[in-house]
Amino acid sequence: MTIADPFARLADHASLRRLESPCLYDRRADELYELSDEALEALLRCNGGNRLSQLGLEREFLEYCLAEGLLELLDQPRPRPLAAPTSPTPSLRYLELQITWRCNLACRHCYLGQARSVDMPVGLFAALVREFADMGGLRLLISGGEPLSHPQWPQINACLAALPVRRVLLSNGHLLSSEALAALNVDEVQISLDGLEEGHEALRGRGAFAKALEAARLTRERGLDLSLATMAHAANLDQFERLGQLARSLGAREWGVDAPCLVGRLGDNPQLAITPQQAAQAMAHAYGGAYHGGGEGMACGLHLCTVAPDGRVAQCGFYLDTPLGRAEEGLWACWARRQPLALADVAGCRECPVADECGGGCRFRAGDPMAADPVMCAAMGQPAPDEALILPGGTT
Ligand code: SF4
Ligand code: SF4
Repeated sequence: MTIADPFARLADHASLRRLESPCLYDRRADELYELSDEALEALLRCNGGNRLSQLGLEREFLEYCLAEGLLELLDQPRPRPLAAPTSPTPSLRYLELQITWRCNLACRHCYLGQARSVDMPVGLFAALVREFADMGGLRLLISGGEPLSHPQWPQINACLAALPVRRVLLSNGHLLSSEALAALNVDEVQISLDGLEEGHEALRGRGAFAKALEAARLTRERGLDLSLATMAHAANLDQFERLGQLARSLGAREWGVDAPCLVGRLGDNPQLAITPQQAAQAMAHAYGGAYHGGGEGMACGLHLCTVAPDGRVAQCGFYLDTPLGRAEEGLWACWARRQPLALADVAGCRECPVADECGGGCRFRAGDPMAADPVMCAAMGQPAPDEALILPGGTT
């Protein structure tokens, strides 16, 4: 039966923001929709207590929202308080919280070097995720170390329930049993997979491949979104074709391939080095989005911030030695000190014919923040050094 004038309610997985422009964020699909001011005002009235006739939604827009599952029509009121938090400029969209520097593995490429018993206090974690949501944040990346090694992981996990942001857990997969996965309050699990068996275990140790695969399989079985992250290195370069097939067969919605920097334990393993050209070839296999690109005309990390377990807040995990501040001051205060870098100011990229398309790559990997990133130069068909100066440096 069609209801003559139903109540309209924004779906639980959708929420509203005032970022650089008014937006609707679909946490479940990780989709951001730009809105007009009028559409935002109309959607703010879709609180489950107003009837469709009171909303002023354009028919075409209404049909689109219904088709995408962003709006529900109800015969009975089911109120949902709605707000559209206003973000700072630039907006802070992606927050990486390194919640612990403990780890159950000792990977040969780990950026941390030696794992350490440093954990983010639960109270600080709770305050940070609340503030991130209040600032209009979109994607929360829970990383480490291995996040599940945090001694108060159940309490951390409890803070994640009912957050209006997409919650992504970055894990090596070893502690992701079926029971652990069933308890998770996250939307997506990203598992590190650094090659097929031989390539993965060259970094992560014997037996690690089967455990990562099992975690990936269980993640999908539990109905959680799965993504994979791979570091290109000298022992996995011949595996990317088959790795791509594996990623798809596992049901990964996204596969990130990276070739970052000489940090942490990599200094002891120079045999893992690859050239920018090799890195670029490997990265061409990746699919899905990336989370820390820049904006139009701006260098990377425009909307990203990282907090370390010791409370340092930095523009990303590679800049913890030059922090923006301390988490106890609040995210907003630290974020206000961030100085976005325009591509036009990057000397190595300023004259580049493909700068708009490229975005200047990774400023840390470039060595000097004002230099070109050799991996992206190779990927974009621009001149790049041919020696093995790129060394992988993984995270989880
Ligand atoms: S410096 Fe590299 S790791 Fe940091 S935000 Fe930029 S691209 Fe990402
Ligand atoms: S291709 Fe190289 S020089 Fe050009 S924008 Fe990208 S990193 Fe900079």
